[in-house]
Amino acid sequence: MRATIFEGPGQVSVVEKPKPAPGHGELRVRMAAASLCASDVRVYRGEKYAKPGVTPGHEIAGIVDAIGEGVDGITEGQRVVICPMVVCGKCRFCIVGRQNRCEKRKTMGYDLDGGFAEYLLVPAEIVRTGHVLTVPNTLPLDIAALTEPAACTLSSLDLMGIAAGSSLMVIGAGPMGLLHLLMGRAAGASPIIISEPVAERREIAKRWGADLVLDPTTTDLVAAVKDATGGYGADAVALTVGVHDAVVPAIGLVRNQGTINMFAGFPPKQTVPFDPNVIHYGEINLTGSQNATTDQYRRTLGMLEHVPHIDEVVTNRYDIEHGPEAYSSRVSMSGLKSLVAFAGVE
Ligand SMILES: [Zn+2]
Ligand SMILES: [Zn+2]
Repeated sequence: MRATIFEGPGQVSVVEKPKPAPGHGELRVRMAAASLCASDVRVYRGEKYAKPGVTPGHEIAGIVDAIGEGVDGITEGQRVVICPMVVCGKCRFCIVGRQNRCEKRKTMGYDLDGGFAEYLLVPAEIVRTGHVLTVPNTLPLDIAALTEPAACTLSSLDLMGIAAGSSLMVIGAGPMGLLHLLMGRAAGASPIIISEPVAERREIAKRWGADLVLDPTTTDLVAAVKDATGGYGADAVALTVGVHDAVVPAIGLVRNQGTINMFAGFPPKQTVPFDPNVIHYGEINLTGSQNATTDQYRRTLGMLEHVPHIDEVVTNRYDIEHGPEAYSSRVSMSGLKSLVAFAGVE
């Protein structure tokens, strides 16, 4: 089979590999679609670890095509999304359903082979812990591949306490900022305010229904956000760009007792100075979110087909042979999300 491998920073290639055979408790999935994550690009840039030689790809959907012994409840031909976390299932985080914080967690696409290959071997732990999720018949697999980034967004919205009528400020209108707009709207957030310096992305945010879209290079963000939120500031602020200089200004946009979520990962070995009294006197919640729980994957799969514009999030499509170009298109920031699609699997 054809498979992409990560050889080291800046080095991704497509090679011939043996088609995996599922052992006890394992499955093999014929891949339909795998989208590229900002974290894959951080690995490519050398800012985040992945095992050299691993096949990347953790935003994955496909069809079960071989089943190992000892697997029940899954049939050949089943359309599935894989929640790519291998977790222990018994630590205090797993017990309360926070599998994404399991300290023994391993992730497909970084530590174990992921979905930028024609076939994917699904480890027994993934099968056993319910991390193989059925895709509704009405949801195309290339959209189902977005379950992972959309579930990460739902995790962010949950952590920020977004409910119907919550005001939401989103810093950045890249793919993840725009997913905050779409998923936030589906969750009832209003108004949703977006800050984005790139005009083309501001246009998309407007077209996809943001209530207010601001250019941070020409606008007084604090004044504009207060004006749009009755003078208080936003209930929640999601920072979807990993830029250290954006952190302190984001703190100024939240209302007292509101929540700021560091959604993006940041380049390593840099710090941010801020006045702790802003947090103290404002009783501001400062949090981070990374990945999502198994239940957030399940909820997202139920939502996706009802999220307008979700089919426009992927702008760049490649076949497996041209998969490495998915990386270069993200590095040059052309379009929104990149996806590797496998012809004839749907
Ligand atoms: Zn991802
Ligand atoms: Zn655990």
